[in-house]
Amino acid sequence: MTISGINFKTKAAVNETTFYLGDSAGMIAPVTGNGMSMALRSASVFASMADQYFSNALTKQQLIDNYARFWTKEFSGRVNLSRHFQKLSEYPFLTKMCIGLFKPFPSLANAMIKQTHGSTF
Ligand SMILES: Cc1cc2nc3c(=O)[nH]c(=O)nc-3n(C[C@H](O)[C@H](O)[C@H](O)COP(=O)(O)OP(=O)(O)OC[C@H]3O[C@@H](n4cnc5c(N)ncnc54)[C@H](O)[C@@H]3O)c2cc1C
Repeated sequence: MTISGINFKTKAAVNETTFYLGDSAGMIAPVTGNGMSMALRSASVFASMADQYFSNALTKQQLIDNYARFWTKEFSGRVNLSRHFQKLSEYPFLTKMCIGLFKPFPSLANAMIKQTHGSTF
């Protein structure tokens, strides 16, 4: 079973008035996996940055820049990669081809999972 037809285009994780955490950033394709971890990680990092902002250790612009930089470094690579893999699930022929490839070569599947799941924190 797949989730498809949803727009997972890359959007900014922050703008002038809003910081997007977890799924609200709207970029996490289901195949990425670890959505709960990404939500907790972004909330934890943002909480610490917000604390610095409210203690006047950061300006608003620094808060925006720091959070955008964190999101890009931490998530953008694997989110972008998984977006392409997610596309495959929209075409039964490609889905079957990938499953056919991964079955005899599980290390290939593991490598892909590693790329999209990120590391533990
Ligand atoms: C079917 C399915 C299976 C999944 N399986 C996994 C899995 O195995 N492992 C994994 O890591 N991730 C999984 N995920 C992804 C994971 O659930 C999400 O990535 C994660 O929950 C995102 O957390 P979040 O806090 O950003 O958003 P959410 O968990 O969606 O929390 C947002 C909350 O805000 C509330 N809300 C919305 N609008 C308003 C409003 N206007 N006012 C007040 N409250 C509001 C909602 O009711 C909700 O409680 C799965 C997702 C789905 C749909």
